[in-house]
Amino acid sequence: MIICKNCKSTNDDNLVECSSCGKSLLLATLECIISDNSIEVGAIWELNSKDYSVGRSLSCDIIIPGQFVSRNHFNLKYNSEESAFYYESLARNLLEFEKQTYKILDGAIIPLPEGIELKLNYVD
Ligand SMILES: [Zn+2]
Repeated sequence: MIICKNCKSTNDDNLVECSSCGKSLLLATLECIISDNSIEVGAIWELNSKDYSVGRSLSCDIIIPGQFVSRNHFNLKYNSEESAFYYESLARNLLEFEKQTYKILDGAIIPLPEGIELKLNYVD
């Protein structure tokens, strides 16, 4: 379910434009800016106003197949009041032994193991 950031109505996951107001449902892009060999630099995921799971598992919405990336590494939790994503860590390793949750600001870098970096940009 995607919540339109313009009119707050709910839309099916497969839509790209709001069925009520017609505006684009694209909220942000997530781009791989630094990588090892597991994913391509420049790979881009288009994010709508909903939650996403990220990790090595094939069941994740966004799959990062790095060797030291956890099966379910983090979630992007959509906050409809702020029209923003929150980072919710799920990984249990030496780098992130405490569960962290924080708001992702425009242009923020999300670091992953093995030097992989993802950059999130909100769409106007
Ligand atoms: Zn709408």
